[in-house]
Amino acid sequence: MALLSVNNLKTAYTSRGKTFYAVDGVSFEVGENETVGLVGESGCGKSTLGKSVVRLIKPAEGEIRLEGWDIAGMDDRQLRPIRKSVQMVFQDPYASLNPRQTVFQILDTPLKVHGIKNPAERRKQINEIIDRIGFSAAALQRYPHEFSGGQRQRIGIARALILKPKLVVCDEPVSALDLSIQAQIINLLVDLKRSFGLCFLFISHDLSVVRYFSDRVLVMYLGRIVESADHSSLWREARHPYTRALLAAVPEADPGRKIESRLSGEVAGSIPETGCRFRARCPIAADRCSVEDPQLRTLPDGNAVACHLA
Ligand code: SF4
Repeated sequence: MALLSVNNLKTAYTSRGKTFYAVDGVSFEVGENETVGLVGESGCGKSTLGKSVVRLIKPAEGEIRLEGWDIAGMDDRQLRPIRKSVQMVFQDPYASLNPRQTVFQILDTPLKVHGIKNPAERRKQINEIIDRIGFSAAALQRYPHEFSGGQRQRIGIARALILKPKLVVCDEPVSALDLSIQAQIINLLVDLKRSFGLCFLFISHDLSVVRYFSDRVLVMYLGRIVESADHSSLWREARHPYTRALLAAVPEADPGRKIESRLSGEVAGSIPETGCRFRARCPIAADRCSVEDPQLRTLPDGNAVACHLA
């Protein structure tokens, strides 16, 4: 059984009386010890999907099965024991850390909330996690503003891991950081994954970041998964024109690999009523693409693509 199984998930926003599905019928799984990357341009719905999975947002329809329990429709009281198992690391660690709390308080609060009453036990767990992220005990008495951006993200990661979750959803965890610091944070996540046997849903707009970290990659466009592929297949033979365009934008991509197109235009503000959502930007669109909505279909190699011509 997969650790996380998402089935036909829909998450909606309402604006001026109109309902817009930011996540529109998404299904995928995250297996034990697996890291799944989720990529797509800004506005494609990937952050909404991540927040839905950790139930910071309540989805409109569908299932989110965590270790078999469907958490999609649970209320706050039902969710409380489950929240330990799934945690989130945010893009902007400064905004997500309470500036009035010391690092010790930031790490101590979730332990208290989840009923660890023994102060010595909490202190032990805090010392362990602070050591794993490369800080000395002296850092515990300092405040978030006293740290650099990369160090603050380490604190955000420690806070996510202090409850020993099984699944961590990372939403653009390195996009606000310098390149050299990005590599340090990715290496830390890889190390923590090995040590704690974690599963990750790793969200990024940048395929070059996802490539180093993911066993499998989901490509999202306008609320839908358009391609799902294991790490090596995606780099060797991406099938969806959108994925190929994203790969073409990765500077260090293999220059010998044939890529049909560079991506032009922006993610559409509205979803076409018929046909493929990507067709206005697709370099190989055919007549059929304006009438038939391509569904995600599984291929013999286990990967999946939503394109009539793939
Ligand atoms: Fe392009 Fe048609 Fe495939 Fe959509 S279904 S990605 S428009 S070829």
